[in-house]
Amino acid sequence: MIKKDKRIVLMGAPASGKGTWSKIITEKYALEHLSTGDLLRKFRKKDTALARKIGSYMDRGALVPDDIVIGMVDDLLTEGEAKDGFVFDGFPRTLPQAEALDLILEHHGESLDLVIDLDVDEQILVDRVVYRRVCIDCGQPYNLKTAAMRPKVEGVCDQCNGKLIQRSDDTEETFMERLKAYHDQADPLLDYYEKQGKRVAFPCSEMTEQTRREMFELIEEKLSL
Ligand code: ADP
Ligand code: ZN
Repeated sequence: MIKKDKRIVLMGAPASGKGTWSKIITEKYALEHLSTGDLLRKFRKKDTALARKIGSYMDRGALVPDDIVIGMVDDLLTEGEAKDGFVFDGFPRTLPQAEALDLILEHHGESLDLVIDLDVDEQILVDRVVYRRVCIDCGQPYNLKTAAMRPKVEGVCDQCNGKLIQRSDDTEETFMERLKAYHDQADPLLDYYEKQGKRVAFPCSEMTEQTRREMFELIEEKLSL
């Protein structure tokens, strides 16, 4: 493990493996994994008016307003939660969030080092979602298209013998809508970071030893580690 205080934003479409890559990178470089989705899920459990407001946006699948999310991130970074570096996952999602992040960091004499854009072939994203099955009892995920993720017995959970189901929103049609919504949000951000010279695309349709190595090489080259 190499200890470096680096600040990375990870961008990627739904089903691109963003959460998994965040884990791999934060473990390798001892960085903090910051996910606004996780933070908001924790926050909304409180019994306050703000928590209820946050919950109402999340339940609709809408973005939580910028001022709330930015305030949360500002608090987090000001408390020194991630002073030794971080990987942001799910933030920023809007241009005002990206601009606010730059300002917050500047305020602490810091700046963003790198924005990694996970680039996965669209058909692969669709397959990950459409062939996904989950156990109705324990939630264990499977994928019928990937040998390593297929259940031993068709339709039955390896872990608990529960029934495997397809989630109602795991259809190609719904997924294509989510993908479009992602691009509508992400493309302006990617332009913003492109202009700052911070964006780098990382082709990663598979997650293998090889792609892990390539990811580390890319980070070390870009950040001169
Ligand atoms: P998803 O891939 O479902 O969007 P996340 O865990 O990233 O999963 O986010 C869950 C929800 O939390 C989002 O649907 C949104 O309501 C809210 N959220 C997360 N990050 C942000 C953000 N940066 N800005 C606004 N809302 C956010
Ligand atoms: Zn199960």
